[in-house]
Amino acid sequence: MTEILHLAEALLPEGFARNVKLTVAEGVITAVETDTAPGAGRSFKGLALPGMPNLHSHAFQRGMAGLSEGRGAPEDSFWTWREVMYRFLDRLDPEDVQAIAAQAFVEMLEGGFTALAEFHYLHHDKDGRAYANIARMAEAIAAAAEEAGLGLTLLPVLYRFGNFGQAPSVHGQRRFVNDRDAYLRLLEGSAAAIRSLPDARLGVAPHSLRAVALDDLGWVASLRPDDPVHIHVAEQVPEVEASLKITGKRPVELLMDTIPLDRRWCLIHATHLSDAERDGIARSGAVAGLCPITESSLGDGIFDGVRFHAAGGALGVGSDSNIQIDAGAELRQLEYSQRLRDRRRALFAEEKASTGLALWQAACAGGAQACGRAIGRIAPGCRADFITLETEHPAIVGKSGAEALDSAIFAANALPLRDVVVGGRRVVAEGRHVARDSVRARFAGVMRRLLAAA
Ligand SMILES: [Zn+2]
Repeated sequence: MTEILHLAEALLPEGFARNVKLTVAEGVITAVETDTAPGAGRSFKGLALPGMPNLHSHAFQRGMAGLSEGRGAPEDSFWTWREVMYRFLDRLDPEDVQAIAAQAFVEMLEGGFTALAEFHYLHHDKDGRAYANIARMAEAIAAAAEEAGLGLTLLPVLYRFGNFGQAPSVHGQRRFVNDRDAYLRLLEGSAAAIRSLPDARLGVAPHSLRAVALDDLGWVASLRPDDPVHIHVAEQVPEVEASLKITGKRPVELLMDTIPLDRRWCLIHATHLSDAERDGIARSGAVAGLCPITESSLGDGIFDGVRFHAAGGALGVGSDSNIQIDAGAELRQLEYSQRLRDRRRALFAEEKASTGLALWQAACAGGAQACGRAIGRIAPGCRADFITLETEHPAIVGKSGAEALDSAIFAANALPLRDVVVGGRRVVAEGRHVARDSVRARFAGVMRRLLAAA
């Protein structure tokens, strides 16, 4: 089916344009014309931007957002947070995960994300046994993405060990752990789970250098040679210290010495880098998968985004723990982290150019690469995934182009959205997801039950 969509103003790869006419067939843009008169077809007011890919999430963690803000003793860190996470997920059934994921995915769409790379590591039942279908949890994620209408790249995670040096996994990790044979079955089941989704992609993900053996890295990457490979790396200083102690190398150094990084790879966090590691990632073409809100929440540290970006490094953003979900807020936090460190302003922008525009375009390009899908641009050959900003919103009114985009990111509490379109289908209208009420009601029921049992 071919359809015509008219956009009042849109950010195209070559810049902002007015009166843009998109021809869309089977969810894909086949032609883009500018300065056209509105005619037959659906019209969209406001400023249209390519939808932001969310390159990293653990959907179930939406259900524990806010539960770990009390201080542990004697001090709180990523590692105490991880204990809260392990206890929360002890209670989750596949139906709970689907309800929580659907809520997270609706919020992603209402927050400007039109595609997701889900880093999926919660596989087994409460006792750590595989479900009859080992990919049962992957089915729950796929079903939630289908319900919400979110573009999906599913990354089933290989998790084998508890720490560096192939230490045995601990009780809290029993729902994650697979050996290689089980992982092959999981991958097969995951491929089946996403088959009915439009344009979904399957990739692979060794969880971290802590959780796999070094020779697993090349093995996992070889299983789907044309698809994305994501890994958590160098998020925490103790992780860097443990890596140095046990292997004699820093995490990213170890990774780069073990396997050739390329454009298929997405390094999640990559917070703690030497200059050589930072420039090595940039040269490799791999994406730095930044999660600025979660990294702030967990006290991880500050990624050297300015110098990485200047070295031509590819980057994108992910909502990771889903403690807060908004594409604009992730970019704002990324920029602000650099300002606080360097005590300067507008650090991602080219000279005399817009910070918001530089960030939006960089994160769309890096996010699309990390998702392994033709998304992130309003251009022929790409999925018709876009959002429109409410240009009557107080933060934007009277502005257009880059000024409007800067204001949406830096002067509104959350992205002021009108519509969100994924694969040509409108899933958010006037800022509300079409299934918001039913998804929220089911989520509320699940949360009340889970928290009452806590
Ligand atoms: Zn993560």
